Amino acid sequence: MNKHNLRLKFLGAAREVTGSKTQVNYKNLSFLVDCGTYQGPKELRQLNREELPHADRYDGVILTHAHIDHSGYLPKIVQNGFRGPIYCTAATAALTKILLIDAAHIEEEDAAYANRKGHSSHHPAIPLFTLEDVEQTIKLFKIIKRDEWMELGAGLSVKLLRSGHILGSSFVQFSFDTGNGQKILTFSGDLGSDRSPIIKGPVNILESDYLVLEATYGDKVHHAEKLEKQLTDVIHKVMSREGVLVIPAFAVGRTQEILYYIHKLLKNKQIPPLPVFVDSPMALKATEIYRNYKEELKIVEGEEGFETSLEDPEFHAVSTPEASRALNLKSGPMIIISAAGMLSGGRILHHLKQRLPDKKNILLFAGFQASGTKGRLLQNGIDRIRIHHENIEVKAEVETLEGISAHADSKETVVWLSHFQRLPRHIFLNHGENQALKALKYRLQNELAITNVDIPYLGEEFVLE
Ligand SMILES: [Zn+2]
Repeated sequence: MNKHNLRLKFLGAAREVTGSKTQVNYKNLSFLVDCGTYQGPKELRQLNREELPHADRYDGVILTHAHIDHSGYLPKIVQNGFRGPIYCTAATAALTKILLIDAAHIEEEDAAYANRKGHSSHHPAIPLFTLEDVEQTIKLFKIIKRDEWMELGAGLSVKLLRSGHILGSSFVQFSFDTGNGQKILTFSGDLGSDRSPIIKGPVNILESDYLVLEATYGDKVHHAEKLEKQLTDVIHKVMSREGVLVIPAFAVGRTQEILYYIHKLLKNKQIPPLPVFVDSPMALKATEIYRNYKEELKIVEGEEGFETSLEDPEFHAVSTPEASRALNLKSGPMIIISAAGMLSGGRILHHLKQRLPDKKNILLFAGFQASGTKGRLLQNGIDRIRIHHENIEVKAEVETLEGISAHADSKETVVWLSHFQRLPRHIFLNHGENQALKALKYRLQNELAITNVDIPYLGEEFVLE
């Protein structure tokens, strides 16, 4: 085998939307691009417990962005001996720190709760990682500048470019010498679009020989033009019933966007004033970080910026657990925005327990709900759901906001690719469910004539020559 080959191995997000983790080997070097945890059904989450063999042998990890399905496994590899650098942008480092600290708290609390109640199938229940593991992990972050090649050694270099998904998110590019010329491999990470009202969109890439491309919405087209109208209608509906609108939202990215849109509707008097509670300490911290990285924020002539939108007098930050519980006693109309976005845990669960059994209320999804999550079950119209070991009746109306996504849809993905001056000769599709992966593959082959498109299986390995 030619020793200048680069080898790719898919260790996560292979035919799934979570658990992003890809191994890149070149000569004697070995890196991971992203290191995320799985979310969703138990069988999938169980994979988070599996040890990555030889974690101590990796020379480093490169993070595309902060979301936990791309970063949540970092403390786990540190637990297993990894001590290399974790390269990312400054904003990604800042956001990942708060996400990991929060994840450790949840892990520790859940384990303690399960041990108290005897719920766990393992005795005693052990957290996936602890705050101590996270503290070790945070020490390993190495911030790198965007748009500049950095030598990793042995003729392998890396570069980060803006991908427009969340604050700090980046494409990861590798340049390597094959002995037969220099080649480029690009990871899209989560590919953004120019739709975000808050952050700048993805940059165009002009060439890449190989591309690892996400396909979350490979079979869908977002209708962003409907978004404000739908949000207006839902708010009017909940107000007429004096109900509560509960919006589960990712703390990083989505919460900030939702606030922006609600502020816009309030300011333009498209909706009457109503209180909006942001019940996610993490979202509040993330919002502060967004304010600190102004160079990432979008400035549109004639439109109000993201920062002033946050000053809306109707917005109330809910910090303490007591204040969060006190919301249960309040009656509508009001809006509660809380995390986690896919209902995998967090304060959103106690709001759902309180609000789902009443048909006055509306649960509004504002982000992708992976197969097998509580979110997907509710979207599919389940009439009873188990929360904290209790069966909760679902009488509230369940809606999904169209067109609010931090991921490019299938059309936007094709448009982004059409800016390449030289299209990749080989594309690997990951981070998608089967139908989305197949649909995107079809589009790439038929609209861009890219014949070499693979959909890797978990553990599958490819040699790039
Ligand atoms: Zn993401």
